[in-house]
Amino acid sequence: MEKAVLITIGDEILSGNTVDTNSNFIATELKNIGIQVTQIFTISDEIDTIKNTLEAAFKVGDLIITTGGLGPTRDDKTKKALAEFFNDEIALDEVTFNHLKNYMERRGRLDILERNKEQAFVPSKSVVFQNHYGTAPCMMMEQDGKLCFSLPGVPYEVKPLIKDQIIPYLKEKFNLYYLHTRIVSVVGIPESILADIIEDWELALPENLALSYLPVGTRVKLRITASGDNENALKQQTEDEIQKLLPLVGDHVIAVSEDKIEKILAEILTERKLTISTAESCTGGELAKMITSNSGSSKYFMGGIVAYATEKKTEILKVSKETVHQFTVVSEQVAGEMAKGCQELFGTDISLSTTGVAGPGRGEDGKEVGTVFYTIRINEKEVTSKLYMPHLERLDFMNFVSQKVIQDLV
Ligand code: ATP
Ligand code: MG
Repeated sequence: MEKAVLITIGDEILSGNTVDTNSNFIATELKNIGIQVTQIFTISDEIDTIKNTLEAAFKVGDLIITTGGLGPTRDDKTKKALAEFFNDEIALDEVTFNHLKNYMERRGRLDILERNKEQAFVPSKSVVFQNHYGTAPCMMMEQDGKLCFSLPGVPYEVKPLIKDQIIPYLKEKFNLYYLHTRIVSVVGIPESILADIIEDWELALPENLALSYLPVGTRVKLRITASGDNENALKQQTEDEIQKLLPLVGDHVIAVSEDKIEKILAEILTERKLTISTAESCTGGELAKMITSNSGSSKYFMGGIVAYATEKKTEILKVSKETVHQFTVVSEQVAGEMAKGCQELFGTDISLSTTGVAGPGRGEDGKEVGTVFYTIRINEKEVTSKLYMPHLERLDFMNFVSQKVIQDLV
């Protein structure tokens, strides 16, 4: 398996101002084509540091990908470091300049073409991958059969460069294979018994298919990963095997899906033709965001309310003032009434609600940070649960709670 090293370049990442999302994205994309990232460096915009890191990276990786520091401003030094490292000259590349000119023209910014001309200067030995979403091109250098790609830092420029140009290029170059993954979620059968039931099927799986068991709460997720060089054939092969598996597990299968919990939810709701709505307080809309992160969610998601202020809970969601007074706003009773009000407001089969203290600092009524009540209401039935997670940061808290609510529901 090919090995890759990622180098994230930028003082803003080291200072904590920017979170490095590029590495996470690139590593995932590479993994999907069977390239393993073995090291990730985060370094400053300094020529010597960049050169030293490139040297270290070339020792262990077949492929090096750097992001950041390609802007025309003085603090961006990656290009100069590349030229020095590869003993190359920086020269104007006509094709890149024309691309830049078109890019500027389309945006009606030919007036600043000269100021950006610098972006069309690249190491003379580099192969350029044009950037359709920004001015800094991606440059590829080759040395001893190893490749080094240098990309700009802006995430929305990195993503299409990687997905549309670099991944297809690497697949071709290294003769890479595809991975195709499907998840079969099973409830009500303990892992060990499930393993017995499907033993013969598992043993008969073709060699390029791998099975893993992932227990999540009361569910067991069976992950089937197929690898090979023909994407469509892999998809077909995986589906065929799943069709053989399903009768063995019967009604215990609740979903066949991708890995994400939101996707599992989407499949269940679509299949059973159920609608859903959300009434959120402490999750600030995160729950609705997760549910709507799936395309096609308009089929089942009717809407959500973020009722942050207590009076909005009573006004919009019809939570009674007495309940708030008697039990406080972060309580099982308020969560329940929020869900009921929400279900009536949106006319949905299912409604979800959250009320809690995301922190930092205590809630108005003295409830501890990290306390949350959430209700899952399906038709006339509802279940309210309590969570207490004082250790989580605010945004992590919102994310965790939302995940948990969806997980409980599916
Ligand atoms: P530009 O042409 O825009 O100047 P650049 O290649 O010089 O691009 P940088 O200046 O390093 O890139 O970064 C541009 C923007 O992208 C900054 O807002 C920075 O915070 C963001 N960015 C850079 N690297 C990363 C990263 N690894 N993850 C997420 N965001 C990043
Ligand atoms: Mg920079």
